[in-house]
Amino acid sequence: MLSDEYLARHSKAQFSRMKDKDSVSSDSNYREMIQRIGERIAGVAQVDLPGTEWEFVVFEKPEPNAFAMPGGKVGVNSGLIKLANENEDEIAAVIGHEIAHVAFRHSNKRMSQAMGIALGGVILDTAMRKKSSSERVLAGGAYGIGTSVGMALPFSRKQEKEADHRGLYYSAMAGYDPRGAISFWKKMQNEKKRKMPEFLSTHPNPGNRIEFLQSNMDRAFALYVNAKKARGEKPNL
Ligand SMILES: [Zn+2]
Repeated sequence: MLSDEYLARHSKAQFSRMKDKDSVSSDSNYREMIQRIGERIAGVAQVDLPGTEWEFVVFEKPEPNAFAMPGGKVGVNSGLIKLANENEDEIAAVIGHEIAHVAFRHSNKRMSQAMGIALGGVILDTAMRKKSSSERVLAGGAYGIGTSVGMALPFSRKQEKEADHRGLYYSAMAGYDPRGAISFWKKMQNEKKRKMPEFLSTHPNPGNRIEFLQSNMDRAFALYVNAKKARGEKPNL
């Protein structure tokens, strides 16, 4: 397995390139919303990811997509905020899910697997051949693995289930209504009927996702009610 530190370093470099290449949203409402939700989720996830320097960025892109990279770099497309109708409980569900992938080191596992594939193959590109195996994989040239740190590879069904489970608790403990996870995934499924969103290609359906989320809802809801009380706020009932 690749070290956390190594992946974090490369993710940070990758994220900087994305910010240069793709347009970062100047919508102050969107930016503040994602910052606010992100900080609350990160506060809960801190026990799993101590010392992470989080950064939350809104990209001005129509595709409903979001991601979190090792090292605490989180990107949310404006298209996802629109798909969620700016519903913060739904957006929190997505950010919770993404941060859970990071907490489980899922990208690390994906990258290590990808590297195993790359190492087993013949590297045709001469420039690539001179680089170390990890550089090759991270450069994404060898096997079309993608330009990001493990981001273009789909998560496994098991990883999706883990992220759904923990993500649900993260958002609930941060004071977001966990039922937002269900309404969000329903919207995503509807979107799929129109056009396959990129988000679903990297986050395949782990089977009965909605049923699985529902089966954890009682506990998540209790955590949410407690979190709201602790914040001096009224929970949705
Ligand atoms: Zn996922």
